[in-house]
Amino acid sequence: GRRFFVGGNWKCNGTTDEVKKIVKTLNEAEVPPEDVVEVVVSPPFVFLSLVKSLLRSDFNVAAQNCWVRKGGAFTGEISAEMLANIGISWVILGHSERRLLLRESNEFVGDKVAYALSKDIKVIACVDKISDWRNIVIAYEPVWAIGTGKVATPAQAQEVHSALRNWLLQNVGADVADSTRIIYGGSVNGANCKELAAQPDVDGFLVGGASLKPEFVDIINSAV
Ligand code: 13P
Repeated sequence: GRRFFVGGNWKCNGTTDEVKKIVKTLNEAEVPPEDVVEVVVSPPFVFLSLVKSLLRSDFNVAAQNCWVRKGGAFTGEISAEMLANIGISWVILGHSERRLLLRESNEFVGDKVAYALSKDIKVIACVDKISDWRNIVIAYEPVWAIGTGKVATPAQAQEVHSALRNWLLQNVGADVADSTRIIYGGSVNGANCKELAAQPDVDGFLVGGASLKPEFVDIINSAV
């Protein structure tokens, strides 16, 4: 089976005190063991090291972006090598906020995914150019559901997730279709997660707003 995956995308939020508070809540939470639910939280770059040092060891930490190739004269960018160097094992790439607001193209996102994977960073992605599927989680996030409070219905999510899995089956192969986690994002909260999680092709969540709140623990626990 596919291990349930819950990602918390903190986006551009948080102060040092707020971050410490969220981490404290997570550290004290009772959740299923990591072979049942994989939890990855994604703070802004400036808090990565802090979170990594304070967070319980059964949860992982993701960056929200990284540069498309090796570092160098690229002011303001953070390379995959730097993430690996500080022990960050995951990155979110191609989020619709970056595609829309920062005009990241499919091509650019695809190149970022390939480069990050080549540096042994696992990727939470939605792209068309992936050669190594072992370290990828695909996030389906309908843009109308992001930050709006309008969550997809379980049937709507299941329909798209099943179509994505079918695409994998037709275009990549049965093994990849069977093993790749396809997670849902967009207004997931403590109240609506359970019904979504019960859908056969919903393998977890990428949570924005609710990942900053104690109800993130309920979302982690929604798998079981
Ligand atoms: P919300 O959960 O705030 O709608 O955000 C979803 C999202 O974009 C996660 O990456």
